[in-house]
Amino acid sequence: MTYIAAFDLGTSALKGILLDREGHRANEQSIEIETKYGLNGEVEQQPEQWWQALQTILSIWKDTTPGRVEAITAVTFSGQMEDVIPLDPSGTASNAILYSDTRADQEARFIQSKKPLLSNITGNAIRSSTPLAKLLWMKKHQPPQYQSTKAFVFSAKDYLIHKLTNEIVTDPVTAATSGLMDLNERSWSEELLSDFSIDASKMPRLLEPEEEAGKITAQVSQVTGFSVETPVLCGSGDAGAATLGAGALYEGDLYLYLGTTGWAAAPTKESANKIDGVFTLSHLPEGTNISIAPLLNAGNVHQWAVHTWGDQTESPYDNFEKMAAASPAGANGVLFLPYLHGERFPVMDPEASGAFVGLNPAVQKSDFARAVVEGLCFSCCQVIESLSEKQEGMMTIIGGGTRSRVWTQTLATILNRPIRVPNESEYSTVIGAASTAFISMGWVEDYAEFTKKYIDTLGAEVFRPEQENRETYKSQYDRYLRLYPSLKETYNN
Ligand code: ADP
Repeated sequence: MTYIAAFDLGTSALKGILLDREGHRANEQSIEIETKYGLNGEVEQQPEQWWQALQTILSIWKDTTPGRVEAITAVTFSGQMEDVIPLDPSGTASNAILYSDTRADQEARFIQSKKPLLSNITGNAIRSSTPLAKLLWMKKHQPPQYQSTKAFVFSAKDYLIHKLTNEIVTDPVTAATSGLMDLNERSWSEELLSDFSIDASKMPRLLEPEEEAGKITAQVSQVTGFSVETPVLCGSGDAGAATLGAGALYEGDLYLYLGTTGWAAAPTKESANKIDGVFTLSHLPEGTNISIAPLLNAGNVHQWAVHTWGDQTESPYDNFEKMAAASPAGANGVLFLPYLHGERFPVMDPEASGAFVGLNPAVQKSDFARAVVEGLCFSCCQVIESLSEKQEGMMTIIGGGTRSRVWTQTLATILNRPIRVPNESEYSTVIGAASTAFISMGWVEDYAEFTKKYIDTLGAEVFRPEQENRETYKSQYDRYLRLYPSLKETYNN
């Protein structure tokens, strides 16, 4: 038996799976990753911890299922994007500046004013999260570090590829978020590199997701257990892998991702989105892009509420579910605005924050729990309405948030459409990443065949709208839409 290994390096954890040729999951393992927050918008992780996490997963597999790691015939990845990871000449890396790091706000503004039409090239507006803005920040604030860096990579998985192969590569999905790639050409924009004096020699080599980055050497084989000469593929930025994992391959295949943060997305043939705040990224198949509307507040807010209100003696998630289910639809009039982390779409306000309204002496703890779930659903509803004209038909939802049945059921009713949650959808992204290895190994011909064989055939649970609660939600949604405009004034002091 042979296997392919796929790893997804998300914000909260490194998840790894082994799949056989039939698409059966032989092994799975997850190792948590720590994030460090600074006082000036800094959000960082240590690349060395990613590498340790990979080795921990491999050693668990070696101990529990001897022989399997040696039987891996290809290794592939997906990972968080918009990171800036400086590789020094020895092959190690300093702290990675994560996508959510906002230190480069001034540089983002500078880029916007110097090159207002940049999105005609990249398909995307510049924000403080954009790697180009972070590179300019480093040039200004840490010039010796910028100068001594051999190369930058922009997805966490690119660092692991570098450790395994010594190659410096990235994929077009990741590069589409960098602020430096020509979206139509899928190559670095010489014009932008020159306009902002970024050394082309410090850019990673751009490969398609299914292309081979390098092979496992004898030395790396000793450390990891992978067989010598095993191909390591370039893989894909996580948004591409998640889109494929959700089975969204063709124009209009809308889906929702509810992870720590989230997004609503649909494949498109367009090379730029007309809606402000919507990103356009490359998709895995060449010639296709993805329209993607970000949700800064998703599982992170759910998690905050679970830890704030859930009883810590039993499983806090289960306890929170019971509490939210105990309050009626409409949460006895309590409304929640979930902007704990500011918001990016369709409201674009980093200063925004969360709020509860409608409190009275009869309100109970369970109403707070239900209001949080409903507020998150209203926010998803607003994002989907802003992104897509199609407001009916089955929609797929993936990500860890789908483990909350109250959340998925409430979403189906608020969106008034059936929702399909593929079985164990927290693995959807890493299964999507695995597609690159199936193609590279010749196990399937293309992404369409992979989707048909391994994604569309996955079992799924379907949640249908509860008609008896529709009227309540309609009036609560009307109130919700008025919440942010009413509170806006109070946010900026
Ligand atoms: P990431 O984007 O970091 O990969 P995941 O897809 O793992 O995130 O989703 C994380 C989210 O899943 C959490 O923030 C939380 O909302 C939700 N979640 C995790 N565990 C549970 C659980 N046992 N029950 C309900 N929801 C959960």
